[in-house]
Amino acid sequence: MKAYKCRCPNVDWLGSIANCIYENGNSTKEIHHAYKHVATRCLQKAQLHYSVKDFENWQQNATKYIEPVAKDDYTTVITHPVEVDIEAYRPYYIGFRDWNRWISLCSRLGWGLVGFWFGIMGVTGILHYSHIVPNLREKLVPKRFKQFVYKYLTIPKVPFSGGLTRMEFFISSLFIILTVLSCSINYTLDVSVYMNSQYFLTLDQVSFRVDLLAFSLMPVVYLLGLRNNPLQYLTGLPHSVMIKYHKVTCLVFVILAMIHSIIWTVDACKEGGYKSWVEWYWSWGIAATTIACLMIAQSLKFIRDAMYETFLIVHQLFAIMLIVSVWFHCASLGWMGWVYSMAASLSWDRLCRIVRILVNGGINSAKIESFNETVLKLEFSKPKCYKFYSGSYVYLHFLSPWYLCWQSHPFSLIESIEDKGKLVVYLKCKRGITKQLAKTVDSCSGSTKILIDGPYGCFPLPQLQDKEIPKIICVAGGLGISSLLPILQKSELELANHRLIWMINDLTYISWMKVTMDELAKRGLVIDIYFTKGSATDGSAIMSYILGTDSSQTDIKDEESEGKKGQYRVHYGKPDLDNLLVMELNSDKKDTKIYCCGPGVMNDQVRKTICKQINLKSERSVELTIENHEW
Ligand SMILES: Cc1cc2nc3c(=O)[nH]c(=O)nc-3n(C[C@H](O)[C@H](O)[C@H](O)COP(=O)(O)OP(=O)(O)OC[C@H]3O[C@@H](n4cnc5c(N)ncnc54)[C@H](O)[C@@H]3O)c2cc1C
Repeated sequence: MKAYKCRCPNVDWLGSIANCIYENGNSTKEIHHAYKHVATRCLQKAQLHYSVKDFENWQQNATKYIEPVAKDDYTTVITHPVEVDIEAYRPYYIGFRDWNRWISLCSRLGWGLVGFWFGIMGVTGILHYSHIVPNLREKLVPKRFKQFVYKYLTIPKVPFSGGLTRMEFFISSLFIILTVLSCSINYTLDVSVYMNSQYFLTLDQVSFRVDLLAFSLMPVVYLLGLRNNPLQYLTGLPHSVMIKYHKVTCLVFVILAMIHSIIWTVDACKEGGYKSWVEWYWSWGIAATTIACLMIAQSLKFIRDAMYETFLIVHQLFAIMLIVSVWFHCASLGWMGWVYSMAASLSWDRLCRIVRILVNGGINSAKIESFNETVLKLEFSKPKCYKFYSGSYVYLHFLSPWYLCWQSHPFSLIESIEDKGKLVVYLKCKRGITKQLAKTVDSCSGSTKILIDGPYGCFPLPQLQDKEIPKIICVAGGLGISSLLPILQKSELELANHRLIWMINDLTYISWMKVTMDELAKRGLVIDIYFTKGSATDGSAIMSYILGTDSSQTDIKDEESEGKKGQYRVHYGKPDLDNLLVMELNSDKKDTKIYCCGPGVMNDQVRKTICKQINLKSERSVELTIENHEW
């Protein structure tokens, strides 16, 4: 520290250094880069501002006065620039050259981690798009192998892993192993004139390694967490899966950043405390690590469950603050490319959101109906450019109440049966904006202004639209049905082979979905409704909802009743989902796709049952897709 305060104001030292760089640099670019490096040191450590031009002038000036160094004279004060002593210069050159090579190895290892994720996404993308070429998928992935993958890898979850399936856990573990290996290999540098203490050399190497690995992970963390993540379209993976990988990479990034910060903190304390290190980049580095740790802490599940919107806004603010801190941390050190890509990905996401809202016509009017205190129906005209597809969802901004209009929430869409030009959202009122919305329904006379940010959800390839799947079983819990109805609506086959199992704890749900379900029932769909809170005595009430008549006019006493057109089957109490699915699957040998959307416990139960039911010896294919309303 003190040495630079003495060196940087000294014109003889500056001239000697400038001349040395000039004589040994291989190109103007290299020479200027080295001048800038010395200028940065003088700025950081001696608060002196120098430019490349200054160094060029000192170099030219030095040539007039330069003299060789007097050997073995350590007492005479030198008052002129000195020539490069090749013998003395060589060990320095080798020390720095090896150090640079080592740094470049760290950068390449960082790229390796980025490459890992792009490799995973690339392979997933190839498998996804292989559906386009007829029979290619079957050749790439034989049916039995596919069933094996479903049964043992993609459907079962790993306990206590934050909801990762075995496949996701395997990929995440590979990534962690790769990171540990990248942190551990190739510490081959020897002490040199540049790093003349083994302790400092080891510290520096570990710190640089973890730091550069952390840096290269930052853009990946940001990309995986984006709403408008282009990788979703490349791979066909849903946002819920991307979010899981976002969490894993983020955790690894924070651990690496913490190791980096701890190393330098310990070292600073050893060298005389923080005071000796209070520099611009140092302070921003501390800020960046602190923000990253806070981001992890504020994302814990219990916080998200308790106050999701607060979590989201704080998370987004922290994401911006992290970019700012890392920007200032690196401005003088380099590696700004990673920082630019983080800023670019965040800006890209915001831009896409705005463009989507504008393309969807900006402010739209939505008719809003309240059936009871807990569920609202929202209906709005399909924007001209809007492409509806099953499994898609939108983020809605509600302009009333105005002070919550910055919030946007995801909702699944159903195409209106009565009017194909309309889209419908069934919306369950929770504690946040949905509750506020319910309160304003009366006062805004059944209509509200909305911004439509969408559609989202992987755009299904024509080959994957399930139009010709012989058998589809949909298992829905409550309003989870709104994600599943479009799948059945899109099926082009007769629906008699398909099943809808719907668990509800509120009878009014039936009347809201009635028109859509009647339409499906007309096409032959068998709908099993389980009124989980009910008993057989509720039979007439249920049938009145189904038939759309006054309950007093129907007299149904059976536990299991045939409804309108014989397609509704009504049951009371909670179903034995396990048994139900086994029976459905055993009733024929057709290839079957099961869709499930409901509370986490229900989804997990369906996972377990389907895993057990996949028979690797059978020619039949059984697939499961869980539509997620929580991430
Ligand atoms: C893909 C998808 C489709 C959905 N479709 C429907 C639907 O058709 N009908 C329906 O009623 N609900 C649906 N949801 C759930 C819906 O987004 C939440 O119920 C809604 O955002 C709650 O708003 P709130 O402010 O009242 O929530 P709060 O009471 O503040 O939070 C309740 C829970 O809602 C979830 N949530 C809240 N805000 C968000 C957000 N911005 N992004 C993601 N999750 C959030 C969180 O899990 C949170 O714990 C869907 C969710 C997803 C992810």
